[in-house]
Amino acid sequence: MNNEILLKHLRNVPDFPIPGIQFKDVSTLYKSARCLRIMVNELYDIYKDKGITKVVGIESRGFVVGAALAYKLGAGFIMARKPGKLPADTLKESYMKEYGKDTIEIHSDAITEKDIVLIHDDLLATGGSMLAAYNLVQQFNPKQTYINFIIELTIEGLNGMAKFPDNVEITTLIKI
Ligand code: AMP
Repeated sequence: MNNEILLKHLRNVPDFPIPGIQFKDVSTLYKSARCLRIMVNELYDIYKDKGITKVVGIESRGFVVGAALAYKLGAGFIMARKPGKLPADTLKESYMKEYGKDTIEIHSDAITEKDIVLIHDDLLATGGSMLAAYNLVQQFNPKQTYINFIIELTIEGLNGMAKFPDNVEITTLIKI
């Protein structure tokens, strides 16, 4: 029922940012008070007993629900950002995208070995950006790492889920 409400509110924008891509525009989920509440509450129910101490949000669509969820879980919120955006010392992870290389960074004092981390992003496509975020978080050697997406694209050939180690718990609220 809740997932149907989310699906109903999600806007599909054909041919953005390039021809052939069906862009899932989560801004229509974020602007709906009802959807925002559903997403944060559902994720809170999933993660409330996991002892999460840090939520990592991936720039920028992962910041919205990530920060709200961190607040509700009583956890801290960490920004995983594009290169050159964070002002202090960072750890980095580079990864290959369709057109060239990209890098993400987290402040080097953001996570400790005592942390239990949940990494959150809006959408799983190929999994490349989340895998980089996961590998980046592993550089901090936290106690445990969980992964969540609001949307999982299950289009044939993407195989995003297959990128991650079997022992990592991954949840998604809606599959398309
Ligand atoms: P990937 O690394 O291929 O899993 O891509 C995931 C990232 O790219 C997420 O941060 C998404 O916001 C964005 N993204 C990729 N494909 C789409 C899509 N079809 N609709 C909306 N966002 C997308």
